[in-house]
Amino acid sequence: STFVGASFGGIAELYAQIQKAIGATERVFELLEETPEEINVEANGAHEKIKGNVAFNNVAFSYPSRKEIEVLKNVSFTAEFGQKIAIVGPSGAGKSTISSLLLRFYDISSGVITVDGKNIYDYDLENLRGNMSIVPQDVILFGGTIKENIAYGKPDATDEEIIQAAKQANAFNFVNGFPEKFETLVGERGVKLSGGQRQRIAIARALLKNPSILILDEATSSLDSESEKLVQEALEILMEGRTSIIIAHRLSTIRSADKILVLDNGKITEEGTHQELINLENGIYKNLSNLQFTHN
Ligand code: ATP
Repeated sequence: STFVGASFGGIAELYAQIQKAIGATERVFELLEETPEEINVEANGAHEKIKGNVAFNNVAFSYPSRKEIEVLKNVSFTAEFGQKIAIVGPSGAGKSTISSLLLRFYDISSGVITVDGKNIYDYDLENLRGNMSIVPQDVILFGGTIKENIAYGKPDATDEEIIQAAKQANAFNFVNGFPEKFETLVGERGVKLSGGQRQRIAIARALLKNPSILILDEATSSLDSESEKLVQEALEILMEGRTSIIIAHRLSTIRSADKILVLDNGKITEEGTHQELINLENGIYKNLSNLQFTHN
């Protein structure tokens, strides 16, 4: 990956490497504790369609296993129907935690989170999650066919719908290239897919589920540039007409966001568009964008 602005040269590089190393250890926890839930989120469609207005009001949160540390402090923001909200900030700032709370993986300590004006804890959980999809950094598919993996969020999908979703997700060509096409097995006993291919399967799955709210955790390490382009195109289509909350690492995503939230040590310290934030003298965003974001 390339870093924006090379003026700090080696220091910028070193800083980024340290950030990555810290991130990697934390992700081991996430992988162990959160991945099964992330997959489960995709399992059900909505029985009642929501619009997708999201609001956090003075939300505070500590993980049950570490009650003494407040991971989020007075977090407030809104994401209106159809908007793209980019969350940026240093590793450990609490970005993934925000998405876990929206998905109701944990109970908040204080404050209110609403979807379409209604407290998320007043929703039927399946219905709430039925209206949401996650495309995580590292997509893990379950052992089964590609078709089953795509149809996971809509078990009654027709073959035509599955093919259509795969086409929109830029997955059709590589899937169709396998001898067994959509019946190809993935996972331990099946073909090994690249990170970008797995992401495109997850995008096809989300397209089929057709959620009102999309949570996107952008990869920190870049895929090869061809795969990157195909994933990016597919994501643009997926985000269309939905509320997207993006844990963002790519400058292009951040620039096109309706709103950027800068999270630092559990607090939103800056909020605005790229242009607004880049003009804040000594702003955290300004520093981050010099050091951290990938170019593509
Ligand atoms: P990154 O960019 O590295 O993914 P982040 O901004 O998404 O970081 P979070 O993953 O939300 O940060 O973590 C915020 C804080 O909460 C960190 O201090 C982290 O160690 C802690 N944390 C994250 N997940 C858990 C967990 N399951 N149990 C306990 N503490 C956790």
